[in-house]
Amino acid sequence: MDCLFCEIVKKNIPSKIVFENEYLLAFEDIHPVAPVHVLIIPKMHIKDINDISEQNIEYLTQIMLSIKDIAKMLGIVETGYKLVSNVGKDGGQEVPHLHFHMIGGAKINANISYKND
Ligand code: AMP
Repeated sequence: MDCLFCEIVKKNIPSKIVFENEYLLAFEDIHPVAPVHVLIIPKMHIKDINDISEQNIEYLTQIMLSIKDIAKMLGIVETGYKLVSNVGKDGGQEVPHLHFHMIGGAKINANISYKND
């Protein structure tokens, strides 16, 4: 099987899409941790932040330009939100396709902790 999020981009796996354009897809996280929890992903397969290059930077530019519009659409642009991108094993990345968690709709805890393996 292809990458899970590539399958979502191709609509082979259903998702609750909140915004889409040529470069990106924003859809609801299946396990929301807050009243608003949306994942924003590039339509091109980029593994993580470490995988960003001159060849794919346009996707990142377009995502960054769209963030405030998506937040506006979700009604959280004024109240605020967290934008999180996990990278790799220690970063807690479960799906190896670059994504930004947009989390809001309530005051979000900033607790970050760690454990040794
Ligand atoms: P991360 O741990 O940063 O890789 O985040 C992966 C996120 O993808 C988690 O918050 C999952 O709940 C979410 N997720 C996994 N499968 C799906 C799916 N089919 N539709 C929507 N969200 C998903």
